[in-house]
Amino acid sequence: MKKKIIIANWKLNSNIKNISIFLKNLQLNISSYLKYNTVIIAPPTIYLERIYKKINNLNIFLGAQDVDIHKQGAFTGETSILMLKDIGVKYVIVGHSERRLFHNENNKLIAKKFGLIKNSYLIPILCIGESEDEKRNNKTEEIIKNQLDIIFEFFGEKAFVNSIIAYEPIWAIGTGLSADPEYVESIHQFIKDYINQYSSNNLEEIIIQYGGSINAKNAKSFLEKSSIDGLLVGSASLDCKEFLEIIKVSNEILCK
Ligand code: PEP
Repeated sequence: MKKKIIIANWKLNSNIKNISIFLKNLQLNISSYLKYNTVIIAPPTIYLERIYKKINNLNIFLGAQDVDIHKQGAFTGETSILMLKDIGVKYVIVGHSERRLFHNENNKLIAKKFGLIKNSYLIPILCIGESEDEKRNNKTEEIIKNQLDIIFEFFGEKAFVNSIIAYEPIWAIGTGLSADPEYVESIHQFIKDYINQYSSNNLEEIIIQYGGSINAKNAKSFLEKSSIDGLLVGSASLDCKEFLEIIKVSNEILCK
């Protein structure tokens, strides 16, 4: 059975005190839910190492929220893939819509980062998805094609092996308006079919998450869909109780 992958993206939130409370709660309660789930926590860069020390022995993985395209040198303020790897990071989010919007990251730069992560034997979590305007103008598929095409152009048919795709419609992120699970299912099917045209890889190997206003109440309706391989959770992942509830729901579905 394919495990579901539940990712916490803390963005620019939390502090030492809250992290300590979160980790204590996690340590006490997580073990019984890990059989059917892979859990990844992506905190702000400055807290990565502190968290790694506590989650490493729990079988929870460390994720970074971004990486620079340079491995080292005169690039003030940046964090390199070598540094992330050095402190135990295994997954790196790339192309989050907030990076695209607030840091002007385009598909080409994102493809470069994606390659850098793969070449360093870490696992990229590639965020893709359409804006509200694009959805209204029926451009969702075109946008997704563009976001995937450049990855294929750079890395060929094996591009999405050992990678995760997170379908995150921008209009659903941080708005409280999650997408309809049936709609997400149809987009996930579209992504799988599109990738299948380019690559002879087993479709089972392609991992596609959903992200956008997930919480403990709505998680079940997404996780029940077989084409949704897990969730990328933003604000609801800051509250350990709520995050654990999402993991528990996933576990219950897979236990059946
Ligand atoms: C995200 O940050 O990728 C996200 C999905 O956020 P939220 O769950 O808060 O919508």
